[in-house]
Amino acid sequence: MHLAEILDMRNDIGGGVSIGLTRRCPLSCAHCSTRSTMESEEAPAEIFTRFVGTFRRDDRPEILALSGGEALLRPDLVQALASTARKVGTRTSVLSGLFFARADRIPPPILRAVDAVDHFSTSFDVFHEPEVPRDRLFRTLGAIMDRGVDVSLHLVGQGADDPWLGTFIGDVRRRFGDAVPMVVNALAPFGRARDWLAPLEGEGADTAAANPCAMAAWPVVGFDGTVSACGNDDVFDRRPPHLLLGHAATDGWPTIRARTERSALLRAIRLFGPRATARRLGQGCDGYCAACMALDANAATDLSALMDRPATRVLERGVQALLRGGGGEAFLRRHGIPRFAGLSQLGRPA
Ligand code: SF4
Ligand code: SF4
Repeated sequence: MHLAEILDMRNDIGGGVSIGLTRRCPLSCAHCSTRSTMESEEAPAEIFTRFVGTFRRDDRPEILALSGGEALLRPDLVQALASTARKVGTRTSVLSGLFFARADRIPPPILRAVDAVDHFSTSFDVFHEPEVPRDRLFRTLGAIMDRGVDVSLHLVGQGADDPWLGTFIGDVRRRFGDAVPMVVNALAPFGRARDWLAPLEGEGADTAAANPCAMAAWPVVGFDGTVSACGNDDVFDRRPPHLLLGHAATDGWPTIRARTERSALLRAIRLFGPRATARRLGQGCDGYCAACMALDANAATDLSALMDRPATRVLERGVQALLRGGGGEAFLRRHGIPRFAGLSQLGRPA
């Protein structure tokens, strides 16, 4: 499965679900958004196997996106979840920091996990490179491609003119041609990066202009099984009740999907964006995600009448059609570094 196929579904409400299988990671990247160490939290595997076991052929996400921390610290679990998901038609991608690239060969349990998934993504950036040398990354990526698995790179940079990004992308193209599509996101002050990186420019601007958040389309299962409306790491740390959808130990996919689709507050965030929603509720709208997390969950009932109006439903369908029509590349222009959005289409099958 090509990266572009996954990204094209990124605007679909409940089109996918992300699961953080562990917060642990053997690497120590300076910008790590999850502040991962080998002592970080890790929930029992049964929570995740139970949840994926509730996928049904007629009610399932198209994509199961596994990440961490380092998801491949639990290769047997990755293999089991991908296998369960495939039985009902859901395809699986896994994101890894490639800690095992430092070894001379890929460990057999990780190879079995690689063979079980439909897409293999590797994160890499200037902070990652001291942990995993570039030649080891390329060698391991090549070995995974040789097994017939589609791969991609998830890069982080300090903007369109980041010199590290330019050099690295050039190296990837020289080595692999068009065979490795890439997602390029902007460095953000989450996790360990918050200790040394300034807040996002414009995050504090007080504007109520509509700016829909497509990140609220796919629910995210966190390290302890808590299910959130998006993958913002601050949501898992602060747990604002209006952005929580349930728990993987007790709720099944049909319930989580229905809550994702029907919540008036989430529908407003996806349609108007958090600032405009806050303004409609008469609340402060300082920041983007900050405004979203500060929303008063009780005031959400005030949104129900507005969101249930026929005109709002029509607008919602129109905006959703526009977002879907833009596909994954347009999604990345809004949520990644726009200049590099086209790299996600490299090698896309005709
Ligand atoms: S590989 Fe990912 S999870 Fe691991 S330390 Fe680096 S950024 Fe964090
Ligand atoms: S605006 Fe809200 S739903 Fe969207 S990413 Fe930020 S916290 Fe999550």
